[in-house]
Amino acid sequence: MTLENAIKRCEKPKWRTLYSGICKACKKLFYTTAIGFFQKQFFCSQKCSTETNKNKELISCFVCNKKRWKRPEQIKQSKSGKLFCSRKCFSKYITGKNSPLWKGGHINKYGYRKIYKNGKQIHEHRYIFENYIGRKLKPFENVHHLNGQRADNRIENLELWCKPQAIGQRVSDLVHFICKYYPKETKKELFKQ
Ligand SMILES: [Zn+2]
Ligand SMILES: [Zn+2]
Repeated sequence: MTLENAIKRCEKPKWRTLYSGICKACKKLFYTTAIGFFQKQFFCSQKCSTETNKNKELISCFVCNKKRWKRPEQIKQSKSGKLFCSRKCFSKYITGKNSPLWKGGHINKYGYRKIYKNGKQIHEHRYIFENYIGRKLKPFENVHHLNGQRADNRIENLELWCKPQAIGQRVSDLVHFICKYYPKETKKELFKQ
């Protein structure tokens, strides 16, 4: 649509908003009104649209098997040769345990190794430590890496830390807290003395 036509159209209350865009096919600037834009009208004309879409191929999504029409350049873009119906399915593939990037766990941007358990990504050091102590970690507990290497999850490199309060603590409360949550360790320590 030319600018003149688009402005004329905007005079009618139904088409109040004017958008401009670059045609995906001929790369020319074009104008359109709201509805057309939101229907993903990324082409200046019907001609450009059919021209681009005529070579489309029907593919099935690697994750969910849904059928989608893809243009040749979209198909060529895929490095793995696998095609997906949506961004969501692609991210499922790339983060899932069957992903080529997975290899039994991966290290996240904070340096911790993450693994897959029951369909969820979890921190490997927490999982290993929970198995070691035979219980779930409490909300105020952390697993600390002794040598500072966050991906080194050998059990001898892990130790339990606890942070009951952010800033300081009344001694009587702390004693109460320790006795309540760590009775075994408290007993052990008392018998030592
Ligand atoms: Zn065009
Ligand atoms: Zn899919």
